[in-house]
Amino acid sequence: DGGKAHTLLYVEDNPANLMLVEEIIARREDICLITARDGLSGFELARSALPDIILMDINLPGISGFKALKLLADDPLTVHIPVIALSANAMPRDIERGLAAGFFNYLTKPIKINEFTDALDNALKYTPARGEVTLRLRRDDQTTVIEVIDNGPGIPSAERERVFDSFYRVPGNTGTGSGLGLAIAREAASRIGGSVRLD
Ligand code: MN
Repeated sequence: DGGKAHTLLYVEDNPANLMLVEEIIARREDICLITARDGLSGFELARSALPDIILMDINLPGISGFKALKLLADDPLTVHIPVIALSANAMPRDIERGLAAGFFNYLTKPIKINEFTDALDNALKYTPARGEVTLRLRRDDQTTVIEVIDNGPGIPSAERERVFDSFYRVPGNTGTGSGLGLAIAREAASRIGGSVRLD
């Protein structure tokens, strides 16, 4: 259904889980579901359909969900797509390993409908349907200004100074990252007599 705002790709070999997710998504006006039964065809479908989110089983025939995630992350076409793991491996170390590998989120089976919908909405917020980044360079008196403008979810004004602290992460942000990027950017700018500001 090309009329729906978002596309979710679900890579899963278990028919019962496929059916449950189909039922949940059927109630959503904004999400169109496409599916693949194994990691390699999931990767190929991701490259051709460019979904907004991918939901990935871990134990799959052929390559594992971890290997499929690696293929997606290594491909410039799909590297930006958040991939949520959905796995029966539910030990804390499984979850840690999943998040460390770069999954946007790690959900465990059996599927809990509220947790599942929250995770989807969170991932959709994180990557708007048509993400855009604009770079502008301008001269302001004696100062050169580089502006970076994006249409991401934004940072609440109360958080805007704190995000420059090393290792600080905005609460609720489940994306991967060290929390060092902005701290390093500010330090680098100050070494050349500049500054970094968030508007
Ligand atoms: Mn499976």
